[in-house]
Amino acid sequence: MVETEGFAGSRIASVIDGLGAVYADIEADQEVWKKASPFHCPSGCGACCVHFEPVVFESEALFMAAWLLHHQAERAQSLMDGTFVPPRNDSDSSCLFFDPSTPWHCTVYGGRALICRLFAYTGDRGKDGLIRWKPCKELGARTQYSQDELLERFGALPPAMSDITARALSLDPDSVHLQVPLREAVRNALYRLVMLKRFASQNEEEDPDKPNPDSPSPLAPQPLAS
Ligand code: SF4
Repeated sequence: MVETEGFAGSRIASVIDGLGAVYADIEADQEVWKKASPFHCPSGCGACCVHFEPVVFESEALFMAAWLLHHQAERAQSLMDGTFVPPRNDSDSSCLFFDPSTPWHCTVYGGRALICRLFAYTGDRGKDGLIRWKPCKELGARTQYSQDELLERFGALPPAMSDITARALSLDPDSVHLQVPLREAVRNALYRLVMLKRFASQNEEEDPDKPNPDSPSPLAPQPLAS
């Protein structure tokens, strides 16, 4: 779960935690499908991140920003102050977090966007409402499997992209009309979270009801008179 310490209890923290739960369920459902299916991404592929930068909803950007602040604080700061150096040279046309020099490529894996989690291991629903699945072209497989074919051949179904997306969007319905390129969205989300943490800590300091550990407590045991 992404760290929301410093703004726990806020609406933004509940969106981030809710999306974390959706992401955990995606992983669990895909695990079932991966075990049943013979199709797996070739080791070190990363083709889906080349010449591609996700456009994201605000909730995804907030999740990634919280993850960056917790796990890669210096990188988060560099994104905010404009000194961030993308790990690849042609980052203008590709995801700014893609690193071609490592076998795993994604440098924000735990905080990555929704589409990054859905691609390759989720299906979609046809007009009849049934799940269908089309393997990534890197897998070199046939065009598309129907739900019946999937069940007959593999005995399992991949999760449906539309079901997951609807669940993710329901966490923050006010912002579903807006998708923004990742680099811009994550920078804005970082500013928001830093401001939120700052306000939360100021409020805590100024809270007159907050007990001061240095003040004598009326309930503290008093020394006995001799
Ligand atoms: S966030 Fe990671 S997985 Fe998603 S496009 Fe960028 S490098 Fe690829």
